[in-house]
Amino acid sequence: DKVNQGHLVDWLPASVMQQYKFPDLVSALLSVHRPDKDADVRRLNQCQSKPQQRLLFEELLAHQLSLLQARQIIRKNRAAKIVLDKKVHRDFVDQLPFQLTAAQESVIAEILADIDSEQPMLRLVQGDVGSGKTVVAAMAALAVVGHGLQVAIMAPTEILAEQHYNNFCQWMGADNCLLLTGKDKGKNREYKLEQIAGGDCLVIIGTHALFQEAVVFKDLALLVVDEQHRFGVHQRLALREKGVNAEGDRDGGSVPHQLIMTATPIPRSLAMTAYADLDYSVIDELPAGRKPVKTVVVSTARRQEVIQRIEKACEQGEQAYWVCTLVEESEFLQCQAAEVTAEQLTADLARVRIALVHGRMKAAEKQAVIDDFKNKKIDLLVATTVIEVGVDVPNASLMVIENAERLGLAQLHQLRGRVGRGAKQSACVLMYQPPLSEQGKQRLAILRETNDGFKVAEKDLEIRGPGEVLGTRQTGLMQMRIADIVRDEHWFDEVRKTAMIILEKHPQAVRPLVRRWLGKADRFVHV
Ligand code: ADP
Ligand code: MG
Repeated sequence: DKVNQGHLVDWLPASVMQQYKFPDLVSALLSVHRPDKDADVRRLNQCQSKPQQRLLFEELLAHQLSLLQARQIIRKNRAAKIVLDKKVHRDFVDQLPFQLTAAQESVIAEILADIDSEQPMLRLVQGDVGSGKTVVAAMAALAVVGHGLQVAIMAPTEILAEQHYNNFCQWMGADNCLLLTGKDKGKNREYKLEQIAGGDCLVIIGTHALFQEAVVFKDLALLVVDEQHRFGVHQRLALREKGVNAEGDRDGGSVPHQLIMTATPIPRSLAMTAYADLDYSVIDELPAGRKPVKTVVVSTARRQEVIQRIEKACEQGEQAYWVCTLVEESEFLQCQAAEVTAEQLTADLARVRIALVHGRMKAAEKQAVIDDFKNKKIDLLVATTVIEVGVDVPNASLMVIENAERLGLAQLHQLRGRVGRGAKQSACVLMYQPPLSEQGKQRLAILRETNDGFKVAEKDLEIRGPGEVLGTRQTGLMQMRIADIVRDEHWFDEVRKTAMIILEKHPQAVRPLVRRWLGKADRFVHV
């Protein structure tokens, strides 16, 4: 055999090998490549044989180690110790037009405890759409601004960045805040970059434009990444590296605290595996008084009925979204479809004030339309999926999603989260193009049955697999060779425990294990 024994060191701790009666690495590899003639094929196909289990255990372990190691490396740096003044804290909470939920309070407490330390915070906050993540981030920002240091808040779309900018201007004072997006060009952009580099602005909000090399912060003490599932792994890492590089050196230098927020509700065990480099908090409660959105599934054959329902609702002072989707990746086609739909609806509904918002409009135009919608100058907002994240108009209580069968459940849930934000009963109409497959029916039925993002995510995970749900781009986890993070979930606890043992007792095994399974492609590990 061409097996080179030199590279095939067994790094699994003896205790694990014994407990699970794992074969050694060489025998495992040989038997996986040349199974016994009388091996149980069904077991093999499900990766249940001992040799297979041994290999997938090791692969999961290698992934876990790479993330934990990245965490250790970052945590070796120092961060600014941030304390939120008690009176500032109280005043901020008092001026909010609502009472924080217990879940928000406890996550805020976790964050404030994290940043009150020279160890950089690395925290993921997961909260279903509408759970109120923004104000949680604002509290951390408030603390940082109190020290005269900078905070960067990154959003995946311009609309969301602008909305955050408006909120933060109210909360922290417009003089303190600055918005930087791809739309800033020339002199304007230069001026903003100077403001950031000079420390004239403390709260910098933006899109991925904040990643660009020309953006240099003066005293970045906190990074907030909102809706992180929309960013690719490279962006997440680039940002992290930017933070690390801000002060020049990597080891022992000063780095910002990191707060990562996501609405993608993934089961806890999966989160701990996919984000092992992060601490994990959940806002597991929606603000009081929210009523679950009533969801119905209808065929486009009933389009006219739906249109009449909208007309009636709008005449009674309600506001609605009409979301256009297309399966094509082309943003251009999606915008075109929305334009056509807006024209048709305008022709059909003379007494309804209709406006259009899509991704190809200028930022200022988009903002103007959304503002008009917020200020009730518009009854029906026809939109592409650009409104998927962030748009917050509590009075809107009706949403129609065309071609709902083409979107993932998580995305539909996220879109639906635009309604049901006020005290009013809201409704969501999922319109599909018949014929709908049996699986398609099942999928849409899940949304009809539950408003709970976790349940939606679990079903989504079952139906579409983790690659789609987590976003293949964002975790190295999907390129696994033998392990499967859904099928092999029962190993997670043991893998995590073993990873801790190795980090503590056999640190020399980390590098070869990570190399063996992740190769050089692994950018989590800066060694
Ligand atoms: P998400 O978690 O989806 O980012 P947001 O931060 O956008 O949610 O909050 C959604 C809406 O709920 C906003 O209008 C916000 O002002 C409001 N909100 C946040 N927290 C509360 C609360 N505790 N009670 C009532 N409304 C709240
Ligand atoms: Mg949000």
